[in-house]
Amino acid sequence: MTNPVLLVTGGSRGIGAAVVRRAAEQGYDLCINYSRDSRAAEVLVSEVEALGRRAMAVQADVSDAQAVARLFDRCVGQLGMPSALVNCAGVTGRISPLVDADPETIRETIDINLTGTLYCCREAVLRMSRKRGGAGGVIINISSPSAYNGAPHEFVWYAASKGGVDSLTLGLARECADDGIRVNAVAPGLTETDLHASGGAPDRAQRLAPQIPLKRAATPDEIADPVVYLLGPGAGYVTGATLRVTGGR
Ligand code: NAP
Repeated sequence: MTNPVLLVTGGSRGIGAAVVRRAAEQGYDLCINYSRDSRAAEVLVSEVEALGRRAMAVQADVSDAQAVARLFDRCVGQLGMPSALVNCAGVTGRISPLVDADPETIRETIDINLTGTLYCCREAVLRMSRKRGGAGGVIINISSPSAYNGAPHEFVWYAASKGGVDSLTLGLARECADDGIRVNAVAPGLTETDLHASGGAPDRAQRLAPQIPLKRAATPDEIADPVVYLLGPGAGYVTGATLRVTGGR
């Protein structure tokens, strides 16, 4: 019997890499997408293979529709049809008030976080839909509590992209329920990854930790565990939900 196949966008580092490790432990074969850091993706492939699972790394910019189609084709060709997709690829752009943000940063953030998630969902539904001959599946989109708090003075364009992710999650869940596809989102709170340094604030997690009721940032594993739960049969009646994993914030 073959293992279920999970495709993780932005699966090479941070929360995506934690999802890859946890899913491999649960018996999935992994297609690990990345954008630039091929070394991180290849190291993770070796880790997954050491657990006895199959794995492949595929470079693709999720904001490029044709690259996304090729990503899915390569996954199907090498590992088989994915029954699960986790959309983790995301960027914030440099932290600033909106008036000081570069228009290119705003465009790129929306393109990767929102349009890229839509492209990946579309390719997944084309292949998973029971009405189209597929076997059904599960999609998890990684959102953010900024969708609700708006991230003022930091990155309101990023918050807007994640608000869109929540809307598409609900709409697609309802659209695809009778295709045998569940669609949910996880909104991680402050999590210890390189995302904050990429936004120009490497100390952000430590600085904001006192504002969190649990008084600390999450580890990537603490986000990966609920993601893997939502992928599994224990969440069989959960669709259209955004699960906030925020330490109470
Ligand atoms: P991270 O450590 O910076 O990792 C980002 C991942 O996305 C990397 O694998 C990166 O690959 C990939 N990526 C970036 N641009 C891409 C593109 N255009 N196409 C394909 N892959 C791309 O970030 P993270 O903190 O794990 O964030 C993961 C998700 O969680 C994001 O959606 C983020 O918005 C969300 N989130 C994070 C936090 C937090 O506090 N960390 C909180 C709420 C939500 P390369 O290395 O190859 O570029």
